[in-house]
Amino acid sequence: MTGKETSSRNPIADIEAWLQKATTLSEALPYMRRYSGETFVIKYGGHAMGDEELAALFARDIVLLKQVGINPIVVHGGGPQIGKMLERLKIKSSFIDGLRVTDRETVDIVEMVLSGSINKQVVTAINAVGGSAMGLSGKDGRLIEAKKLLRTKQDPDSNIEKVLDLGFVGEPERINPKILQNFESSDVIPVIAPIGVGENGETYNINADTAAGAIASALGASKLIMLTDIAGVMDGDKNLMPTLSHAQASDLIADGTINGGMIPKVETCLNAIDQGTAAAHILDGRVPHVLLLEIFTEHGVGTMIETG
Ligand code: ADP
Ligand code: MG
Repeated sequence: MTGKETSSRNPIADIEAWLQKATTLSEALPYMRRYSGETFVIKYGGHAMGDEELAALFARDIVLLKQVGINPIVVHGGGPQIGKMLERLKIKSSFIDGLRVTDRETVDIVEMVLSGSINKQVVTAINAVGGSAMGLSGKDGRLIEAKKLLRTKQDPDSNIEKVLDLGFVGEPERINPKILQNFESSDVIPVIAPIGVGENGETYNINADTAAGAIASALGASKLIMLTDIAGVMDGDKNLMPTLSHAQASDLIADGTINGGMIPKVETCLNAIDQGTAAAHILDGRVPHVLLLEIFTEHGVGTMIETG
């Protein structure tokens, strides 16, 4: 049976469905007008990236944002993919407080996977649906100048603060956004691997959430959106929190309800808001078109981080 035969059977039902689509498009107009010319930084999570179909939909959404005059800047992660490669190469790796201890051998692999295969996968997906994506790492144009991340931990017996050595795990020290600003008036969509460059040219592995937040602040982005593998921030009863304030976040981190990879996400969103980003969202990257839902409809999805 062809589509036409179906529609001739029940034309009214079809027209209603078409009208619904047209209405949805029309309702997006005020959002398109409001956001045109603005910069959105979108963190594409290592865990949300695994599924090919979802990756293609994500790419389409990014191209649509660019098409309606928004400047999307994509920053991607890659924890699971790095883990797989280290396993394949039989390089042992350990974690302290959720951060991968990154020695010289490991940081080489981290750079290879992040700014090599993953970065090009994301670029290819966006270009396959008509975009013009360009991959960069934090080394290009010295986009992310980084320094060693210093973490201390109190020894429970002696109460002495001990310095933890995480090797080449870094934090952004300075963002040089010029290379990104050059793209604003072009059709290029930057796709950034969270690798930082140190004072002496050394390579640093940076948490992609932290990198995305630093770039959002440096660019004066109006939105920071984190796509991850969970519906949003969950409270102690595992219910989704539609909004999250500073005070709630501090309490939930202190009592362990927010833990692991959700900590840098929430902290980065709070910092970004404090530094002038108008809105920060943590969204479920497993939901098809979650970006369009959040940006172009009245429906708020996931968790919105609030000021104050
Ligand atoms: P990504 O690759 O997107 O950065 P992470 O694994 O680093 O993903 O962070 C997301 C994970 O954080 C979730 O899958 C979840 O296991 C964990 N998490 C910890 N605390 C919470 C919480 N309170 N609400 C939601 N997720 C949480
Ligand atoms: Mg993470």
